[in-house]
Amino acid sequence: MIKKFVYTLWLILFCVCVFIFIKDTNFRNFLIMMENRTFDMRQSVLVQNNAKKHNDNIVIIAVDDASYEYILEKYGEWPIPRDIYVKLVNYIEAQEPEAVAFDLMFVKSLKSNPKSDKALIEAFKKYDNLYTSMNFDDQDETLRQPPKLPKKLTVNVDNNSPAVDLEINSYTNCRKILDGIINATSNIGITNVTRSDDGILRKIPVFLGYNGEYYPQLGFAVGLNHLKREGSYTGRNFTIDYNSNLNVGNRSIYLDNDGSVILNWYGGNKTYQYIPLYKLIQISSGKVPAGDINFKDKIVYFGTTAASLFDIKTVPVSRNFPGVEIQATFINNLIDNNFIKKFNRVYTVEIGLILALITILIVLSENSAFMGAIASMSVYMLYVFLTYFLMKYFNWWLDIVYPLLFAIITFIGAYIIKYLIKSRDFEQQYILATTDGLTELYNHRYFQEQMKQMVDSSKRYETQFSLIILDIDFFKKFNDTFGHQAGDAVLRQVAQTLKKNVRSSDIVCRYGGEEMSIILANTDYETAVSTAKKICSRVSARPFKLPNGKDTTVTISLGVSTYPKDGITSSELIEAADKHLYNAKNNGRNQVGL
Ligand code: GH3
Ligand code: MG
Ligand code: MG
Repeated sequence: MIKKFVYTLWLILFCVCVFIFIKDTNFRNFLIMMENRTFDMRQSVLVQNNAKKHNDNIVIIAVDDASYEYILEKYGEWPIPRDIYVKLVNYIEAQEPEAVAFDLMFVKSLKSNPKSDKALIEAFKKYDNLYTSMNFDDQDETLRQPPKLPKKLTVNVDNNSPAVDLEINSYTNCRKILDGIINATSNIGITNVTRSDDGILRKIPVFLGYNGEYYPQLGFAVGLNHLKREGSYTGRNFTIDYNSNLNVGNRSIYLDNDGSVILNWYGGNKTYQYIPLYKLIQISSGKVPAGDINFKDKIVYFGTTAASLFDIKTVPVSRNFPGVEIQATFINNLIDNNFIKKFNRVYTVEIGLILALITILIVLSENSAFMGAIASMSVYMLYVFLTYFLMKYFNWWLDIVYPLLFAIITFIGAYIIKYLIKSRDFEQQYILATTDGLTELYNHRYFQEQMKQMVDSSKRYETQFSLIILDIDFFKKFNDTFGHQAGDAVLRQVAQTLKKNVRSSDIVCRYGGEEMSIILANTDYETAVSTAKKICSRVSARPFKLPNGKDTTVTISLGVSTYPKDGITSSELIEAADKHLYNAKNNGRNQVGL
């Protein structure tokens, strides 16, 4: 009984906890963070196993620590005069690259040299595959008036997905790059990125909002140039379908809730071809031979990797990842069409349900909790492996944390319920084994057990206890007169009368046939005799209902014995009580024998 209560309490407490956890935003955020960590782990293992290779056509011109030192030495300042870039661009463009992109911002500065800026602007006019970047921000309007940007830089986005909200990546202000460049080209991409709550960059917004218009991410702008060359898409109009897929050319790109793409990372021991800026300066001026450096059909990214220039971010597969390589990864994903597709909540719930169902089947078919746990854990492990391979071969991100949490909760809940049912079954079995079916009194076996226990405890604590044995008078004749059905009805009613007239701690049993016994704990002989007398008179005074509806009367004879006065073993006590019962019979019945 208490056990059952404890289990039920447990179950209620458990459900309340689960409910609170799921409703609690902090806990939900914690789960999201955990899920992101599983993504990072999957990506890290994939990268270590060299599952996805870098696209060889992407080359990074890096302003690395060595180049930074070289520049300071040679030009005495950073940024370098912009005509240096012009020389480099001319050198690269002569080899017919696919695109050249600057992940650097050519803003107006005190160091700007109008003549070299002019040369750079001319370069943007000259090459239609030359790209540069700009950044949005939320700077106070009183500090900087939000500039107007020309329409040619925008893209049109028709968002039909209820899940995607492009407003999340919208900004109110912008630090303009040189007006001359803005006027010269429409090849300007935005380089704003966002990080998850844990500071790790996993995704990149494709479209960035500013002043009610949308602008392409730099990597996306360069990627569009690739699609144009491929012949699969030209233009600046985009549609996001109901299922959050951005369809461009023959690519279907899954967008996350803020209109971002989730990046798939490339790895292994090889990375993109990195050329330090200083080396390119030396090659382009003919001081150093070009060797195997060739830009034909390459996508060339200029960017900083020097620690001193701060463009270092944390990504799933590395703590120190240069911003330019994130842009490169973006375009690599686009070219090779392997952005991550994250499965939405509906799938997560379905997977959770399937795992929960398997768990329930295991719990039902496995009796040992330990084996059940091992079997369930194996299924969960298999699922985790499955998610890994789905990411490897299909770029799918299936949630791990929610489904597993759901399955584990089901596992615990299922075992609690199973034990509740089991303990209820046990209780029923116990009742069946200890009670008499006709009278619902305890049966003879239980009586004998209780007698032994009572003797033991009375011996240990040196207390008394008494036993009453009673027998219905002339019952044989009663049966003969009224039939066995009537006899049974009388037996039941005698049993009720007994139960009603003793304390709840007294144990009333059917001794056998029409004989019954009562064990009275902590009761001396005199008290037991007076209880017996009370019972005797109650039975003789009450009417007994017969099955034919008529009333009749019945009497009983009783015998009493007390530990240790009449005996110190169970059988001695029974014998003594029997003897007194015999005396009652001999003395005329309907009385307590002495
Ligand atoms: P006495 O006053 O000496 O006890 O007379 P008696 O007829 O009761 O004597 P005895 O103990 O010999 O008879 C017991 C009778 O009780 C025999 C049997 O028919 C009847 N009996 C025993 N168990 C049951 C039962 O479960 N149902 C019914 N109806 N009768 C039972
Ligand atoms: Mg008898
Ligand atoms: Mg009898």
